[in-house]
Amino acid sequence: MSRYWSSLVHRLTPYVPGEQPKLAKLVKLNTNENPYPPSPRVAEAIAEELSKGGERLRLYPDPSADCLKEAVAARFADCGISAQQVFVGNGSDEVLAHAFMALLKHELPILFPDISYSFYPVYCGLHEVAYATVPLDEDFAIRIDDYVAPNGGIIFPNPNAPTGCLLPLDQIARLLARHRESVVVIDEAYVDFGGESALALVNEHPNLLVVRTLSKAHSLAGLRVGYAVGQCALIEALDRVKNSFNSYPLDRLAIAGAVAAIGDQAYFDGTRQAVMRSREVLCTALSGLGFAVLPSAANFVFARHQQQDAAELAAALRQRGIIVRHFKLPRIDQHLRITVGTDAQCALLVDALREILA
Ligand SMILES: *Cc1c(COP(=O)(O)O)cnc(C)c1O
Repeated sequence: MSRYWSSLVHRLTPYVPGEQPKLAKLVKLNTNENPYPPSPRVAEAIAEELSKGGERLRLYPDPSADCLKEAVAARFADCGISAQQVFVGNGSDEVLAHAFMALLKHELPILFPDISYSFYPVYCGLHEVAYATVPLDEDFAIRIDDYVAPNGGIIFPNPNAPTGCLLPLDQIARLLARHRESVVVIDEAYVDFGGESALALVNEHPNLLVVRTLSKAHSLAGLRVGYAVGQCALIEALDRVKNSFNSYPLDRLAIAGAVAAIGDQAYFDGTRQAVMRSREVLCTALSGLGFAVLPSAANFVFARHQQQDAAELAAALRQRGIIVRHFKLPRIDQHLRITVGTDAQCALLVDALREILA
């Protein structure tokens, strides 16, 4: 606490990211990074951007990253998405922060699930957005009938985090139709691991904003690139906030790398299929060890052991050099969120758990 702080800073409760250990030897299954490297085209594009001794770095990047917006629009041409319907930012966390300020800050509270991405209440604190949480049902599913209260907006990840549970697209369409007065933000950080994207609904629904990231399915958490897709009025609101905050959120290397990653659809499909296959093997193994595993459409699983305390399990795994995520939060303090690694990493996890549980 310091008398130099603004009153807002005194009231903030910042987000706590998962540990990024300095030890290289750990099996890192705690922050949902992709276990595979990004497309080789990413490093090539970045090297090209750095050519001639990095001469290009002298100049500011394109403030609107138009070539990246074109790449996103081209990839989702089948949904009728144009570059004018794309907003890009320094990770989807930044895109989400702008959405809270630009589209979700109203008189009425916004709604999101009681168990969800824990950054949402943090953005509400930063931007002074009123909110109310809506409990997931007993199976940890989102029930759209529970979102009937008048609201200033609705936001949730699909599949949800940290549960991995997917809400079918027809349910999202119904939610959008019921709440025409407010913006519905669908955070699709994990949708490429088994979900159906709401991008197909953008042109029918002026109140839909879809937020996506290259951090998970494109293996680019370290590059910090995210984007949002919506009708032009929503994109203009995000642009107004962005241009009041930071004109150049994406640097030259991030723009070049992201365009290359989005262009390599074959590589992307290969790695996400590999993650999905490993997930099924992991789920079966965990069930065999006495875990109740929620059905996951993401690159992580959310599992609870029938006998063993979750915090103790996480600590015992850490002693064996494996880190997973445990949230000390109501309803989920007996669950572990485990990122799907390579088959070899998953096997190390399962072997360690078998030893701990023996
Ligand atoms: C990882 C994650 C993000 C943030 O992704 P970045 O693009 O790396 O900032 C957003 N939403 C959810 C639900 C996530 O799990």
